[in-house]
Amino acid sequence: MDGLTPPVLAWYRANARDLPWRKTSDPYRIWVSEIMLQQTRVAAVLGYYARFLDAFPAVGDLASAPEDLLLKLWEGLGYYSRARNLQKAARIVRDSGRFPDSFAELLKLPGVGEYTAAAIASAAFGIPEAAVDGNVLRVAARLTDCHDDISDPAVKKKIRGWVQDVFPDGSADIRIFNQALMELGAVVCVPNGPPKCLLCPARERCLAFARGTFDALPVKKAKKPRRVEEKTVFVLLLEGRAALRKRPDSGLLAGLWEFPNTDGVLDEDAAAEVLRSWGLEPKSWRKRLAAKHLFTHVEWRMTGYVLEVSGNADFFWTPSLDACAVPSAFAKFSKEALALLGGAP
Ligand code: SF4
Repeated sequence: MDGLTPPVLAWYRANARDLPWRKTSDPYRIWVSEIMLQQTRVAAVLGYYARFLDAFPAVGDLASAPEDLLLKLWEGLGYYSRARNLQKAARIVRDSGRFPDSFAELLKLPGVGEYTAAAIASAAFGIPEAAVDGNVLRVAARLTDCHDDISDPAVKKKIRGWVQDVFPDGSADIRIFNQALMELGAVVCVPNGPPKCLLCPARERCLAFARGTFDALPVKKAKKPRRVEEKTVFVLLLEGRAALRKRPDSGLLAGLWEFPNTDGVLDEDAAAEVLRSWGLEPKSWRKRLAAKHLFTHVEWRMTGYVLEVSGNADFFWTPSLDACAVPSAFAKFSKEALALLGGAP
C-alpha cells in the first residue's frame, strides 16, 4: 500500500500520547510495559508501571525480588502469571549477562510471544518486526477491506505479513511504526463506536473508507459465553485479625491470597455448617454482600458473609492485608476486611 507509512508516522510524531515507555529505548523498560499492557488498559497500567520500576529499576532487581513483593506490586492488574514469567525471564537475562537483542532470542523468554517479541525488537533495537495486537488487526482489516475472521490464526498471519510489507526503512521510523499503528487503532480507528475517519492520516489509502464498509469491519467470530461459577466468600474476623489462605499453585489466580470460600451460594445456616467444618463458630454476623468478577473464560458470582468467629482454623490470620497480594476478584471483600481491621478502605 504505497504512501501509507509517511502520513501515519507524521501523524504519530505530532499526536502520540505522552507515555513513559515511549520515552526510552531501554529494552527492560519497554518489555515491562508490553507485559503490563497485555489485556490491560493504558490508564490502568501507568501507576503500576511507575511503582514497579521504582521497586525494580533494573532487570537484576526484578530477578532477585521476593515473590511476595512482586505479586503485591502486581495486585489488581490481573493475569498474575505475567508477573511470574517476567521474573523467570529476568533471571534468564541476568544469568546470561545481556538482554536478548533479536526477535528469535526474545521469543525464547518465558511469557514473550510473537507480538511482545516484535514490539520489543522494533522499539528497543530498531528491528522491523510487525507487532500485531487487536488494534493493529482492526486497523489493517479496515485499511485493506479484509472481511475474513480476524480471530482465525491464518488471517492474523496474513495481516502480519501485510504489516511487514508496509514497514518503513530507517531506524527511527522502524522504532515507532508498530506504536503508530497501535495508536491509530486506540484513538482514531477505535474499537467501540464508529472510527474517526475524518481525523485519520490513512484515510486516502483506506479501502474500507473508500467503499463505506468500515462499520462492518473487522469481522470477528462471537466468543463463547463465560462459564458461571457461584461461590460463597467469608470475611472472618478473629481477635482483630482477618483470615486469608493461599490458592493452589496452579490454575486461576495460582498461589495468590484469597478469603476462605466455598462453591455455591449458601444461606446463613449452610454457611455456618461450613465454618464449623473448618473449626470455627460464628459469633456475630455483620453483613451479607454480593460481588461479581469476570475472568477471560469464567465469571464468578459471589455471595459474601462478613462476621466475627471464635475457634481455631488453619488459615493465615493477619492484622493487615499490606504484605499479601489479594487479587481484585476479591476487591469488595478486601474493602470490608480493611474496614474491620482499621486500615485504609
Ligand atoms: Fe480506520 Fe477510518 Fe482510518 Fe480507515 S479511514 S483506517 S476506517 S479511521
